Amino acid sequence: MKFADLHLHTQFSDGTFTPEELVLQAQKNGLSCIALTDHDTVEGCPRAAAACAAVRMEFITGAELTAEHEDTEVHILGYYLDTENRQLLERLAQFQTVRQQRIHEMVAALNKMGVPLKAESVFAMANCKSPGRPHVARALVKAGLINSLDEAFEKFLKKGRPAWVPKTKMSALESVELIHQAGGLAVMAHPGLNRTDEIIPDLVAAGLDGIECFHTKHSTVMSERYLEIAETHHLLVTGGSDCHGFSKNKPLIGTVRLPYEHVEKLSAARHKVCG
Ligand code: AMP
Ligand code: ZN
Ligand code: FE
Ligand code: FE
Repeated sequence: MKFADLHLHTQFSDGTFTPEELVLQAQKNGLSCIALTDHDTVEGCPRAAAACAAVRMEFITGAELTAEHEDTEVHILGYYLDTENRQLLERLAQFQTVRQQRIHEMVAALNKMGVPLKAESVFAMANCKSPGRPHVARALVKAGLINSLDEAFEKFLKKGRPAWVPKTKMSALESVELIHQAGGLAVMAHPGLNRTDEIIPDLVAAGLDGIECFHTKHSTVMSERYLEIAETHHLLVTGGSDCHGFSKNKPLIGTVRLPYEHVEKLSAARHKVCG
């Protein structure tokens, strides 16, 4: 049996692995195909593709777009994206700027509370164009201002906490369109995590191609439920570990193993859409 992991992060967003380290881990876990889905960027894809080619592993370019629909945050995975598509790159650059600005706002909120974190230390920690809350948490730990990443989220960064800053997001309908015009397939990420069930019909009407039924944080019951939803709406089925490397516990890569038949269906659908 061949397996895939279609939800993975690297240092190009908030993961801790380089693309090369990620591919090595995928190999160690016996995976036959991976997709790189960093938050709001495709920058790591060329290196991951090269590393996969070197070990004859199938690679799917991707990204995880932070979006919203009717005030619900929803993450949309794009697969088979043309990583040089101008419109995609321009729009991603805008959201990367939003993320960088948000770091300054979170740091200002922390400073106001008397936590002397410097924005530069967060940017140095992130060292990427798509920084986020995990980088703030890591910088807080590194500076000795908090004991753990969990504590940083609990005390400061979780929604509703004092240093939480809302993020300007792309509309989910636009994200589907953006992915399609870049030659990709649009898939709703971890629906069980964001409680996005009610908005599925709207996104399907907008051309959503698939749904991530298998995810680290989905129970077996949840996965079965989303498999049924996929069947009802004629959606492709994907799955992945959402591995962020060593950011919290042990790397999650290898814990969600998507049977290859789903990769084949994804690949076939891509050719139907893009020729
Ligand atoms: P951001 O994109 O900046 O809003 O950060 C979202 C990322 O933060 C997610 O992809 C997770 O990796 C991480 N995250 C969100 N909530 C928590 C939490 N409570 N504890 C640890 N990490 C979290
Ligand atoms: Zn993340
Ligand atoms: Fe996500
Ligand atoms: Fe993710």
